Amino acid sequence: MAGTTAKEAPELVGTAGYVSPYPYLDRLQEKMEERLERKVPATGRYCGFCYGRLRADDTVCGFCETPVASTPTVGEIPQEVLRAYKAKQKTEATWVHSGAFFGLIIAAVLFIVLVIWGPGLLGHPAVGFAVLIGGGYVLAQVFGTFLGAQVGYRKGARKRDRMWAAFLEGRERGQPTSR
Ligand SMILES: [Zn+2]
Repeated sequence: MAGTTAKEAPELVGTAGYVSPYPYLDRLQEKMEERLERKVPATGRYCGFCYGRLRADDTVCGFCETPVASTPTVGEIPQEVLRAYKAKQKTEATWVHSGAFFGLIIAAVLFIVLVIWGPGLLGHPAVGFAVLIGGGYVLAQVFGTFLGAQVGYRKGARKRDRMWAAFLEGRERGQPTSR
């Protein structure tokens, strides 16, 4: 995005070329996805800073290390926060699926090329089908699960982190969070 200011641009290091400036967001991502899929109850005892779920006897948040004594717990995760995690999940999934689809298209093109122009045994339909099925699987893995997932992680995590930064800013200014 061209409109973002320089101070928000995170450094390009670490796995998949991106390290979140908010490490607890990565630790929370899976938990928040469970919450988004309604696999866990919406209400509970949540950290008042990062909204990680706390056990009844936790005095310090296990995700962001905020002491409960300094930031009181809350009973629900704000919708704006959940939206940030959803954005990350969706962006990543889109890249994985598009990458896999791209891999399948390449296999399909190879299949057609082999069947029409393949010399000798290479032109045999059985070879073409093997390339289509086996190659399609491998290329879908390479472009989806491997490459797509990395790009998707970078883009999705950046988006989530920007949304979280905006949420933090609003919260610090004391604005009521949208529900
Ligand atoms: Zn926390």
